[in-house]
Amino acid sequence: MTSELLAKRWAAVMMDNYGTPSLALASGKGVRVTDVEGNSYLDFVAGIAVSALGHAHPAIVAAVSEQVAALAHTSNLFLHEPGVRLAERLQSLVGDPAARVFFANDGAEANECAIKLSRLYGRSVDPGGGRLRLVATGNGFHGRTMGALSITGNPAKREPFEPLPGPVSFVDYGDVAALRAAVDPTVAAVFLEPTQGEAGVVVPPPDYLRAAREICDRAGALLVIDEVQSGIGRTGHWFAGIAAGVVPDIMTLAKGLAGGMPIGACIGFGKVAGLFTPGAHGSTFGGNPVSCAAALAVLDTIEGDGLLEHVRRCGAVLEAGLRQLDSPLIRQVRGSGLWYAVVLTSDCAAAIERAARERGLLVNPVRPNVLRLAPPLIVSESEIDEALHALRAALETVHAHQAVALT
Ligand code: PLP
Repeated sequence: MTSELLAKRWAAVMMDNYGTPSLALASGKGVRVTDVEGNSYLDFVAGIAVSALGHAHPAIVAAVSEQVAALAHTSNLFLHEPGVRLAERLQSLVGDPAARVFFANDGAEANECAIKLSRLYGRSVDPGGGRLRLVATGNGFHGRTMGALSITGNPAKREPFEPLPGPVSFVDYGDVAALRAAVDPTVAAVFLEPTQGEAGVVVPPPDYLRAAREICDRAGALLVIDEVQSGIGRTGHWFAGIAAGVVPDIMTLAKGLAGGMPIGACIGFGKVAGLFTPGAHGSTFGGNPVSCAAALAVLDTIEGDGLLEHVRRCGAVLEAGLRQLDSPLIRQVRGSGLWYAVVLTSDCAAAIERAARERGLLVNPVRPNVLRLAPPLIVSESEIDEALHALRAALETVHAHQAVALT
C-alpha cells in the first residue's frame, strides 16, 4: 500500500468535502506517527489538537480495551459508571458542584446542546420570544451542523447552507466595544472561543473574556465559552476561560477530552444547569462507556503526570524556539501552552507544510498564511528541538524557492 494508491481509492468512494488528503497514516506511538509506506513523522498536528496523550498511550489503550471488553454501549436508557465518574470529574474540575453535564459525540454536538439551552433560557426569561438572538464572532468556529454553523463566523462555510437557525449577530473577535454594542436584552447568549483555533490561534486582548462576562451579566445574556479546542490542557490549564478568571454559564468541550475517542461535553452552570427536563435533548452514542473510560484515563494522566505544568514549561520552550527561527517568511508567532500559530508573510503555509513533511514533521496549514502547531501534551523538549530543526529547514527551502522564482 502507498499513500498515492489509497488516495485514488479514497477519491473513488468518498464525498469530496475534505479534498483528498495526500498522506495515509498507519500507526502511531507517543508523538510519532508512521505512514503506510513506513515513513515516520513527528506529529505536531495531533489530529487537530485531539491526541492529547499522543498515540497508543498505555493508559488509554488499557482503559478502552478493558471497557470495550466489559460493556461498549448502553444507550441512554441505562446508567453506566464511567459516564457518572467522568461527569463527577468534570464537575470537580470546573469547581462547581451545582454544574450539570450533557455528553455528546463531538464539538459541534456539544455546541448544539449549548444553542438549545440558550433557546430555553431565552424563552424562560421572555416567553414572548423577545430574547432569542445569539451573538458570535467573525472568523469564529463552532462546528458544521446547522446550529453550530449558524454561529460560525466564516461566510464561505455558512452561506451555501442558508437559511440557518437565527437570529445571530457577528462581532469582530477581541473588540470589547463592538461586543458591548451588540449585546442587549434581545440576546440569549454570546458564544466565544477563549482563543480562536480555526481562525489561526488568534489570541484576544488580555481582558476580553472578563469584559464579555461583565457585558453578558449587565444585559442578562448567557456567556457560552467554547473550550472544544482550548480546553483540557492545551493552554497549560484545564480550561482557558476559568484560568482567565471567567466562569461561563455554559462550557463546551470535545477534542482532547478523550484523547482520540469521540466525545463532546456541554456543561451548564447556575440557572442553566436545570433547564433541560426529561425528553428535551438526547444522543444514542453520546457519552458511551468506552469514550468515557478513555476520557477518565486522559484526565487521570494529565493530573498524575503533572502535564499542565509540563505544557506550560514545554510551551515556553516551543514559543522561544519559534521566535528564534528568525525567518524572513515569518511575520508573527502567537499562542500559548502547546498551541501556536506561525503567521507568514505570504500564502506559503501549504508549501512549508510539504517541506516540513519531507523532513519528518507534520504541521497544519490552518490558513493560507498560517501554520498551526498543536503537538500532543506529552511532547518532550528534545522532540520540540527536533521539530524546530525540521521547521527551520523547511522555511529555508521554501524561502530559497521563492528567491529563485523571483529571479
Ligand atoms: N468548536 C471549536 C472551537 C472547534 O475548534 C471545533 C473544531 O475544530 C469545533 C467546535 C467543532 O468540533 P467537531 O469537529 O468535533 O464537531
